[in-house]
Amino acid sequence: MLSSWLFSNVLTSAFHSFALIFVITVAPAALLILYVTRWPKSRPVEARRAIAFRPDAVPNEIDTIVIGSGSGGSTCANLLAQSGQRVLILEQHDKTGGCTHSFRDNNCEFDSGLHYTSKAMSQVTTRPGAIMDFMSRGCQKFTPLDDPYDEILFPAHEDVVIHSSEFRGKHEMPSYHFNSGKYSSVESIVNRINKDNEQLRTNTLAWMDLCQDIHQGFVALAISRVIPKWLHFLIRSPIDRLMTYASMTVRDVQYAVFNHGYTHKMLAKLGVCPKAPEGYDPDYDIRRVKGVLCHPIGDYAVQPREATMAAHGVTMTHYMDGASYTVGPTQNISMRNTSVVRSYGGEVLVDATVRVIIVENGRAVGVRVSNTSELDRCTCEEEKSKVPQISIRAKNIVCATSIYNLYNKLLPQDLPIVKKFHDPSQRTVRQSNGHVFLFCKIQGDATELNLPTHNLWYFHRYDLDVAFDEYFANPTEVRPPTVYVGFPCTKDATWKKRFPGVSNCILISDGLYEWFDKWVDKPQGRRGEDYEVFKDKLSGHLLDILYDCVPQVKGKVEYHELGTPLSEITFLASFKGGSYGTQCTPTMFDPINRKWTTTPHTAVPGLYLAGSDAFLPSVVGAMYGGCLGACAVLGQLGSLRLGHALLSHLAKRLQEEDPKLTWHQAYCGAIRKFMT
Ligand SMILES: Cc1cc2nc3c(=O)[nH]c(=O)nc-3n(C[C@H](O)[C@H](O)[C@H](O)COP(=O)(O)OP(=O)(O)OC[C@H]3O[C@@H](n4cnc5c(N)ncnc54)[C@H](O)[C@@H]3O)c2cc1C
Repeated sequence: MLSSWLFSNVLTSAFHSFALIFVITVAPAALLILYVTRWPKSRPVEARRAIAFRPDAVPNEIDTIVIGSGSGGSTCANLLAQSGQRVLILEQHDKTGGCTHSFRDNNCEFDSGLHYTSKAMSQVTTRPGAIMDFMSRGCQKFTPLDDPYDEILFPAHEDVVIHSSEFRGKHEMPSYHFNSGKYSSVESIVNRINKDNEQLRTNTLAWMDLCQDIHQGFVALAISRVIPKWLHFLIRSPIDRLMTYASMTVRDVQYAVFNHGYTHKMLAKLGVCPKAPEGYDPDYDIRRVKGVLCHPIGDYAVQPREATMAAHGVTMTHYMDGASYTVGPTQNISMRNTSVVRSYGGEVLVDATVRVIIVENGRAVGVRVSNTSELDRCTCEEEKSKVPQISIRAKNIVCATSIYNLYNKLLPQDLPIVKKFHDPSQRTVRQSNGHVFLFCKIQGDATELNLPTHNLWYFHRYDLDVAFDEYFANPTEVRPPTVYVGFPCTKDATWKKRFPGVSNCILISDGLYEWFDKWVDKPQGRRGEDYEVFKDKLSGHLLDILYDCVPQVKGKVEYHELGTPLSEITFLASFKGGSYGTQCTPTMFDPINRKWTTTPHTAVPGLYLAGSDAFLPSVVGAMYGGCLGACAVLGQLGSLRLGHALLSHLAKRLQEEDPKLTWHQAYCGAIRKFMT
């Protein structure tokens, strides 16, 4: 009797314990798995251009408004739409794309701010390639560039001993190659400088290892923006190392590595870097390798004395496996990625300038919008203030146009957070410099003209700080320190069909907004004789550099037009013509600045960031900034679901590549690829 009573009691309590364990652990886990794996069904997408803003085109009950349709804005909007949200994209220009838009002028096509990107974008089994593939439903393709993908050219007047006789160009310019794979680039560069200098080889490899360690730090930083704080201990170490490197300048780290033989482990352990002396390095080999390894400088636009090693390292690694370019115009990227938004009930509207973000009771609840074309017709601020502003409300607002636009123009200026932004004791980051860029139409077929299929970079001196100082002091008399020279016509596989017998070329160098400030209030195309004279002098230097590097195009440039920071204001609405969001100096990562940049979160509830300022400059950096912006809007559970959708997509691609992989193996492979 007693034993059966005991037995039934034990059974009942075991059942209760089991039920309790089930309720506490298994059921929530099952619900979580069910939620995470239930991704909305894919809907058919019709890729088409956006329409101009008009109030009746605005959908009802919008979940999220995204301001700006560049790489960051389109990514964020696309991922939110695919996760089931109704999204409205508002773009001030008459076409989408921001820096990735392309345009036609004089029967020729030009890209604006995507001239090349990492090779990984052309591979659907890498992290960035898979994200692009996921967003564009496999439609957006990139072609890898052949090796060398980049060639650095120096003028022959430089005071260095040249061991090799391999020059290119009319003036026998020393040239250095960057190839896919770090060993290939290191060998090519060291052999060109002094193949017998083993110390140089060792230090150059140490430099590349350091760059890769920095890249790993950024992966960890991005993960830290998505996972809960209590899990941060898992990624603390690479982030701490990243912050250490970020506090050092490129010039000082070059000095540590090449003059003192530091490795990344030594730098991370010591936490400080010796200060580089002013002026040229007395050792010819070291002088040359330092100049050549400044290679990615054009992609973040800060001179070595002021640039954070973090930006340099991540950019160097970005291209370490090579480069690629779009198949077709760069414009297609945003068209494909934003069209998805419509399939989920959202809309993409251009000619839509967001004038202010509406903040009620401390929360962002909407925006006020005017037609850009109407604003452009106004001749003064008073007239602009009379242009109708339409209010649109949404649960979330994402600003994908830089924090400088956000805090200077879009948020009400009496908000406490805006006052903090303007307080020098609360913020020390500033906006990046601008650029000048020359668009050239060239008569003749690219193959017949033997135009380079890779990128050329003209560096005016091996000591780039000297080159920058000279140029900034006297831009009309001195050649720019670094100039990018690219031929989209040789990289885009569809070009010859679309523009037979015509070639194009784009040259880009640094340009300061301050040079152009006095013409900022004059209308585009009517800025006066002195503006044209100034532009002509800058164009003259760029054309001379083009003819030095690619002499066969002399006499064939049928048309050229110079873009300036004022063009960036007109076409990209960039604040004071800055090109790359926040300037990449060591202050970028100071604790005081961490609430402003490299994060998608803001202090205003309901307001998020996407694009360069949510993560990093570059098309891929801004795309990751768009992913982080989407995660911030979706919250941790929603991010988990989005993460699973992206991982499953990558796993599917990995299985297609290697059908022998089980789903489990492919999924683990996808996780590994996302974490490195
Ligand atoms: C000249 C140049 C060359 C470059 N070359 C390369 C390259 O070769 N490779 C590379 O990877 N990166 C390159 N970059 C950098 C890269 O293009 C950018 O870092 C990246 O594309 C920025 O993306 P984003 O979405 O943050 O901003 P953007 O592309 O600038 O997009 C912001 C959008 O917001 C819109 N906007 C602004 N204000 C408003 C408003 N009030 N209302 C509505 N819309 C608004 C703008 O019109 C714009 O479309 C280059 C940049 C420049 C300027």
